[in-house]
Amino acid sequence: MDVSRRLVILGKQGAGKGTQAERLAQHHAVPRISTGDMFRAAVKADTEAGRRARSYMDDGELVPDAAVLDPVGERLSAADAQDGFVLDGFPRNVRQADALEDLLGEGGLGLVLELVVPTDVVLRRLAGRRVCSNCGANYSVEHPPSSDWTCDRCGGDVVERDDDTKAAIKRRLWLYERETEPLVAWYLAKDKLAAVDGTGHPDSVTSRLLRAVDSRIGAAVARQARGQD
Ligand code: AMP
Repeated sequence: MDVSRRLVILGKQGAGKGTQAERLAQHHAVPRISTGDMFRAAVKADTEAGRRARSYMDDGELVPDAAVLDPVGERLSAADAQDGFVLDGFPRNVRQADALEDLLGEGGLGLVLELVVPTDVVLRRLAGRRVCSNCGANYSVEHPPSSDWTCDRCGGDVVERDDDTKAAIKRRLWLYERETEPLVAWYLAKDKLAAVDGTGHPDSVTSRLLRAVDSRIGAAVARQARGQD
């Protein structure tokens, strides 16, 4: 089974995961699956799950694993995710990573991309970050939509995220270090990790990510040709 397009993108808040995950997904014609977007949609639709998630999100806390795993499992079993996906914001800890292995079964993930960006850079980016309240498209003070904070893609209002307050950002970065960063060593031990420099122009970052995925796909094809898969 070709699992090389089953991708995860890891990185601190503000590392550029959303933008880069979208580009990777488009390039490989697979869906970007963002648990943050799933929760924001549930909050907006005012579902029970959304109401439960909201207080955790606003405080910069992680939503409990039990509330994350079912929606992710359901999304991964959809028809459009069968040839691959780019997961953005999941897994966030080792328990979720373990659960993901169970959900995926044979072959597991293709590659986990760690977007490496120093903390002072992400803090600067987070202060200027803006997002479409309707479709989730990412903008910033330096790269705003073409007209009056109206989304270029869908016409929605482009705003600051509710959880981009100073206190919530600090909490999320701390949680990233404590809960999510251990996944780097976890995936490295499974030979599934590629660390990619996330600084510089977004186009350069995309090229680096695509190269990392391509070289993994190339290695998988070579292994298959040798009959080792
Ligand atoms: P994100 O857009 O990925 O930064 O996610 C926004 C918020 O949604 C996070 O701060 C968490 O409160 C929640 N969230 C998103 N993904 C997860 C996850 N995998 N596990 C727990 N909480 C999550």
